[in-house]
Amino acid sequence: MKADQVAKIKKRLLSLRDEILKVIEWRDGSESGGGAMDEIDQANELIEKEMGFVMSSNMRANLKEVEEALDRIEKKHYGKCLHCGEEISPKRLEVLPFARYCVPCQEKIESKGR
Ligand SMILES: [Zn+2]
Repeated sequence: MKADQVAKIKKRLLSLRDEILKVIEWRDGSESGGGAMDEIDQANELIEKEMGFVMSSNMRANLKEVEEALDRIEKKHYGKCLHCGEEISPKRLEVLPFARYCVPCQEKIESKGR
């Protein structure tokens, strides 16, 4: 994966993390100040649209995935499947920037759980 592609994804992940933190903070301390609601709605919408996240109690799990992806970028492991070590296709990473596994491994893992 090219450095400029990774840089672009990193930027997306960082702004996504900001949005998720905003929502989490808002949920934790929703007493303070009206008017923040609109902003949070916008953040929710953006995250849903960007990532197809299901907005629910999963927020913290989502945050963790984003942070792990950022960590992998820092350690130059980004874009490699954590299971088989193969490169994850850039197309997949564009849709799912925090993907941990390549498609075949993901499918294997998912079918194992059933
Ligand atoms: Zn794999």
